[in-house]
Amino acid sequence: MRIYYYLISVFILISCQQKVHIEPLYEVAIVNANIIDETGTLWDTPHTLFIKADTIAAIEPTDLEKDIAEHTINATGNYVLPGFWDNHVHFRGGEQLINQNEKFLEQYINYGITTVRDAGGDLTPQVQQWNQEIQANERMGPTIYTSGPKLDGPNARWEGSLPVDSQESINDALDSLQSLHTDYVKIYDSTLSRKQYLDIIKTAETRDMITSGHMPFTVELQEAIDAGLDNIEHLYYVLKGCSSQETEITQQIIDGSLGFWGSMEQLIATYDETTAQQTFARLKASNTFVTPTLHIGDVLSYLDEVDHSQDTYLSHLEDAFIKTYEGRNKRAINASAKAKKDRKELQTFFIKLTKSLHDAGVQLLAGSDCGAYNSYTYPGPSLHKELEQMVQAGLTPLQALQTSGYNGSQFLQKDGYGIAVGNKADLVILEKNPLENIRNTQSIRHTIKNGVVYTISRD
Ligand SMILES: [Zn+2]
Repeated sequence: MRIYYYLISVFILISCQQKVHIEPLYEVAIVNANIIDETGTLWDTPHTLFIKADTIAAIEPTDLEKDIAEHTINATGNYVLPGFWDNHVHFRGGEQLINQNEKFLEQYINYGITTVRDAGGDLTPQVQQWNQEIQANERMGPTIYTSGPKLDGPNARWEGSLPVDSQESINDALDSLQSLHTDYVKIYDSTLSRKQYLDIIKTAETRDMITSGHMPFTVELQEAIDAGLDNIEHLYYVLKGCSSQETEITQQIIDGSLGFWGSMEQLIATYDETTAQQTFARLKASNTFVTPTLHIGDVLSYLDEVDHSQDTYLSHLEDAFIKTYEGRNKRAINASAKAKKDRKELQTFFIKLTKSLHDAGVQLLAGSDCGAYNSYTYPGPSLHKELEQMVQAGLTPLQALQTSGYNGSQFLQKDGYGIAVGNKADLVILEKNPLENIRNTQSIRHTIKNGVVYTISRD
């Protein structure tokens, strides 16, 4: 068991007038670094990056002039990358867990994550407030792109969801998201009807809003793609679209003779390579992203076998937060032997499905689904575990890296991500090459967020 201790310190940026008479051009120089840019490409020769305020101000070959920056980081032998993105996190758990959620902001920086995509919760005002403070460099944390509250049916599973049961309520919900200036629409499927689900996507489409979601099993995948769904969270819905019997299974779900979990075995049994390839081609053609969330799938599938009681991360969690894990833990332990076995087989299947999606050219997003209620899927480390899972599925480390910030920024249509002059200085400095071993994404020496340099040290 590895034990990490963190020490965070901020370089205090003071002008050193006693030493130089001319003010340095830049605040930070990262000297002689191996550069791995946003596409995962390692540059041929080391370069020096200069940061001014919150921006990458210059990138030069390494013969540097001395003293043109106030602070110099000798990055010889290190690797500089754009900061990581976790493309599926949750801030949630109500009033009593606000402080705990707030503490995760620092954890993301500890783990090199400079941007997170919040996939909905019940703390939208706090999340938006934190993000404003982060952007103003008044607070340590990642940029948070948020869906705000999820859209679901009436009496939804998750607190804070906006209930939708008519076109009027869809309009109201989307009005409310637009007035909050959220970054996309997250659709959940606990009580949402087939019609409202498709109508949300179509209506959001007419408003140029990005959509992402689960999918009620009363809907066929192709219908969701045709309506304009931009990202599919989790692989259950993709699996459904790969069955030669999707229409028949969907009808059984509509009739009520089959449930969500009950259908999994049939879906796997009727997985059809031709149907699957057609589905993948449609996903690719429509530029629909897929967020596999493999790591949490792995954790939840093996809850009955793996003892997490000694996980070092637990020391960062309040008791009230750990208590939110109980529901999933109990369900996993009390499940029938068959259900436990099926769950593990489904996970194995999803790993293969991830590789098939990738091979077919579907754009994947690395997202951990960390947050309250999602047992032992920890904010920070879980994104690195997700990247490891992508590599275990068969992606190269370079391809896995692309599923983090590169694909994440494309999905949310955010410019200015990556190693280029004029971009935000959101970077990580790694001691080891992540293209050789994806676990090296955790060899973090510094995280740089909005130009502020944090030193990360772990023993
Ligand atoms: Zn989630």
